[in-house]
Order: sequence, then structure tokens, then C-alpha cells
Amino acid sequence: MRLVLLGPPGAGKGTQARRIASEFGIAHVSTGDIFRDNVRQATALGTEARDYMDRGELVPDDVVIKMVGDRLAQDDCAPGFVLDGFPRTVPQALALEDELAREQRPLDCVLRLVIDDEEAVQRLLGRREDEGRADDTEDVIRNRLNEYHTKTQPLEFFYAERGLLRDVDGIGEIGEVTDRALSVLKGLGEEDA
Ligand code: AMP
Repeated sequence: MRLVLLGPPGAGKGTQARRIASEFGIAHVSTGDIFRDNVRQATALGTEARDYMDRGELVPDDVVIKMVGDRLAQDDCAPGFVLDGFPRTVPQALALEDELAREQRPLDCVLRLVIDDEEAVQRLLGRREDEGRADDTEDVIRNRLNEYHTKTQPLEFFYAERGLLRDVDGIGEIGEVTDRALSVLKGLGEEDA
């Protein structure tokens, strides 16, 4: 199973990606987590990404595309993967599509977690309180949502056109949302029958 989770910041992509990965025994690949690890360890990649992250802006495509290419080549991604936070722009989606086509392992599905902006802001503000995440000031949160609408939302059309997009209502208990996501994923093979 190879899939992408789409949705605004605060939609619960990380939480749901972890649960889906564990259900199917596949890798959870979160670009945000990889960047945060690199920032903590002060690597060259972390230094390059940090200013963008602090402003709530996207890290340049070439940096992210290379990083994800390296990650997907690792052994734990062979049985499949859930991409969480990638792709976030059309050039990233095209690069991913090319690479997976070359390897003859195309995506099975793109799940979109649907929540509205106000819910997203409230959740991110709550997370800031709970986790003390320095990247979640209100200005930065608005910036991240703006980046989502201008650069990432076009991917909904991109993947809908390819017949891959499936919507999951992201409002409700964590377990309920997981159940909705799993029922979509488990029904995938049956849709064409
Ligand atoms: P996240 O935890 O997924 O919200 O990511 C945190 C931050 O990492 C984002 O606000 C971006 O600055 C950066 N980032 C993560 N994934 C990407 C991506 N696919 N493209 C560009 N920047 C990214």
C-alpha cells in the first residue's frame, strides 16, 4: 500500500498516518518530522530548512524532493509507505509521480482529511499550548494555512484528475477518523469490481 495524506496543517495527518502505517505494516514518512530531527541535530539540511519553517513557509522544492527520494529508497519503504506532509506543491507531486513510475510502484490512493480553516487554527493553537511548539505562533499558523491554500490545495485537482483522491471527514474522535480512513483504504480494490 502506497499512499499520500493530504489536508491542512492541524487536520491530524501525523496521527492518522502513524495509525494507518501500523495497521498495514508500512513506513510512515513525515517530511516535517525529518526536518525537525535535522534541525535538532543541527545538520546542513536542518540549517537550510530552519528559517523557512520558523516563518511557516515551505522549504524549497529541490531540497524536499531530494530528501524524500533518499527516504523512499530505504528498505522499510519496500512494503509501502504513508507520505505525511509530502507532496505539498505541484512540482513535488510531479517529481514523486515520475520517480514512482520509474520504479513501477505507483500510488494506490491519496486520502484527503477534510477540516475547515477555523477548526485548523483552533487545533494548532491548542497544540501550541500543549507541546510548546515554537513554530506555532498565530501569525505563523495563518502563514502555514495560506501556503496550504495557495500551493498545496491545487494537488486536490491534480490527484482527482488521476482518479486517486478520496475524502475522509477529519472531524471527530481520533479513532473514528481512523475507522473512516481504513474503511476507504480497505474498499479500494472493490471499487473497480
Ligand atoms: P509539518 O510538520 O508537516 O507541518 O511540516 C513543518 C514544516 O516543515 C512546514 O511548515 C514546512 O516549513 C516544512 N515542510 C514539511 N514538509 C514540506 C514539504 N513537502 N515541502 C516544503 N516544506 C515542507
